[in-house]
Amino acid sequence: MRDFSYFCSMSGIYIHIPFCKSKCGYCGFYSLPSLKLKERFLGALKEEMVTRKRYLKSETVNTIYFGGGTPSLLTVSEIDDLLHLINTHYPLAENHEITLEANPDTLSLDYLQALHKMGVNRLSIGIQSFFDEDLKYLGRKHNANHARQCLDWAKQAGFDNISIDLIYGLPTSDAKQWSHNLDIFFDYDLPHLSAYALTLEPNSILTKQIELGKAQPINEEDALRDYEILCRGAKENGYLHYEISNFCKRGMHSKHNASYWFGTPYAGFGPSAHSFDGASRQWNVSSVVDYCEAMSAVSHHCFVVPPRNNAKRVQEKEQLSPEQCYDEYVMLRLRTHWGIDLKWMKREMGERFSTFCEQHAQPLVAQGRLSQTREFLYLTDEQMLFADGVAEELFWE
Ligand code: SF4
Repeated sequence: MRDFSYFCSMSGIYIHIPFCKSKCGYCGFYSLPSLKLKERFLGALKEEMVTRKRYLKSETVNTIYFGGGTPSLLTVSEIDDLLHLINTHYPLAENHEITLEANPDTLSLDYLQALHKMGVNRLSIGIQSFFDEDLKYLGRKHNANHARQCLDWAKQAGFDNISIDLIYGLPTSDAKQWSHNLDIFFDYDLPHLSAYALTLEPNSILTKQIELGKAQPINEEDALRDYEILCRGAKENGYLHYEISNFCKRGMHSKHNASYWFGTPYAGFGPSAHSFDGASRQWNVSSVVDYCEAMSAVSHHCFVVPPRNNAKRVQEKEQLSPEQCYDEYVMLRLRTHWGIDLKWMKREMGERFSTFCEQHAQPLVAQGRLSQTREFLYLTDEQMLFADGVAEELFWE
């Protein structure tokens, strides 16, 4: 049964914390390996959160997500301040989800206890591997023992909604070691796992090291092998594969991330953060310095208007056409186990889109690349890895 009731009438807040202790070898995200600008950034962030408080049109906020970067580099009182500000300016749902991404090298039992006490109720911990040789290859700053220690602390602090990230397809890990990594995760009996294939980002440290022959190259076949092990293991251990990279125990999916796939509005604050209001997207400049400068200069009504005097624009905005909305819906929903809801599409987007989608889906269904029930088009576990290719064939543009 595909239940969508949770996703009606809600919105989310994403806060990007753009600092890390140091850069991991594989990282392609925007973050600075220093805390020098932290105080200035927090001032600008608060300014943005207040200035744009009408962006969500007073919709109830169901989810708050601290992502990065490394949000766990903020002190307890800095996080408390931000939550207090949200509480003052935004209507919050009663059981709202508050997720904080955390890296093991920043965590302690005291810190986790304080977070839990202030209302953070979901942790997403960047474990990446329970093996030291993998962590070293990835350029992570923690070791395998500390990764386990953090999970024990998180449970001890009272968190029962814990997700971890793992990375597969590493040249330092064979099928046996990857299975062992997963077994350690299953033994912790955590409700959520995000698992990603290692990819080489342009200009990452790892990409350069591989080009110079200083690090082992990665192999696509290893990633495919590990993905199969992952899907099989997750299923055997009672996890629902609800998005290409995400697995959860019943009802324990990330509500915040699911709202992206369901097209619910969200406001993103901080450098490089994206926002969506149902009809347009906007995104902030990817530079802490430019962000802080723009935030100190920007006034309430010219937030997305090109600024005068050659000052840098803090945000870009794109109005989505109906065709772009259709393509986005297809792309996002095919990544999930909920799939494309043809009835919804006909009602909300119009018959020309649902007919187009159904017609273009038929050859894919016949080839076994896509599955169909009367109202839904979706990908099975085995088909999910090829979601992008299938989506492209259903695109309007
Ligand atoms: S902790 Fe995350 S954001 Fe920071 S450098 Fe490592 S991968 Fe990038």
